[in-house]
Amino acid sequence: MERSYDLIIVGAGPGGMTAAIYGSRAGLTTLILEMGAPGGKLIKTNEISNWPGIQKINGADLASEMFAHATSFGAEYAYGEVIDVQDDGDMKRVICSDGSAYTCRALIVASGTVERMLHIPGEAENIGRGVSYCAVCDGAFFKEKAVCVIGGGNSALEEALYLTQFVSKVYIVIRRDVFRAEAHIQEQVEQNPKIEIIKKHIPVQILDDGMKVSGIVIQDVASKEEQTLSVSGVFPYVGADPITSFLKRYDVCDTHGYLLVDQNNETKEKGIYGAGDVVAKPLRQVVTAASDGANAAQHAFHMIKGI
Ligand code: NAP
Repeated sequence: MERSYDLIIVGAGPGGMTAAIYGSRAGLTTLILEMGAPGGKLIKTNEISNWPGIQKINGADLASEMFAHATSFGAEYAYGEVIDVQDDGDMKRVICSDGSAYTCRALIVASGTVERMLHIPGEAENIGRGVSYCAVCDGAFFKEKAVCVIGGGNSALEEALYLTQFVSKVYIVIRRDVFRAEAHIQEQVEQNPKIEIIKKHIPVQILDDGMKVSGIVIQDVASKEEQTLSVSGVFPYVGADPITSFLKRYDVCDTHGYLLVDQNNETKEKGIYGAGDVVAKPLRQVVTAASDGANAAQHAFHMIKGI
């Protein structure tokens, strides 16, 4: 039999977990569905230094605190990869890949984003053999080795800095001559003696010796000249795509798949809300995800109670 809740939250990142705190604390029966470990991108982040009240905390530690908090007011937590959402009268039916299904009055989509791949030869076949999308998870495997980080956003530069504590050298390859990352992170990168920045180059092929990554071929954007960097690891950080394909029945996303929400974090589909990185917005931070989650859950509470 399908279990029914007032509120179902898809995703247990900071947005989803904050929504769970606000929803369950307000008395809504609340279920969080998550297909990985609780924490979302937090558990792939070494250090958080912009969560108010805590000057520095490890991402996994903050995730663990948030999870304990999120479930402390009675919110339930279950494994579930959501593959479809359907209308069921005033309710939404949420279907998971294992065949389980739940219904709810309000749905908060806090499913986050998935890292983009480079889509170049040698990438897919070397995942786990030197190609990694998580420096925090895999950095320690590259002690005293040279590695290459692709991308110039906050993620790329923060993870490049993190890697310098293990590796002998980090190349950062960016396709333009400017970074996207915040200025203070750029400064740290530019001052780090282990980091060499290669601008106006794109990756074209990842090389291996049959067992593991041995290098990366990069190409000058202007001259098309190629060079090979001898590296044991490649960390692509070229952005991310929103996880919203399970909302295919609803017209609630922009052309890139990000959720469009109003000031209540509600989509134009009544009862479907968005929180965190999956929402179309200019600033993706732990604190803005938490704000989304609180706002969405509060409005869902008002909607359910007819306030
Ligand atoms: P991002 O800001 O979109 O940066 C992506 C980077 O990858 C850009 O430098 C981009 O170059 C480059 N790129 C994209 N496609 C490429 C390709 N095919 N080949 C080579 N380079 C490519 O992504 P992000 O760093 O993952 O950050 C995502 C969001 O999370 C952002 O809003 C960011 O501010 C936020 N975030 C915040 C923090 C923090 O505040 N501490 C930490 C992590 C992430 P171009 O610039 O040339 O397009």
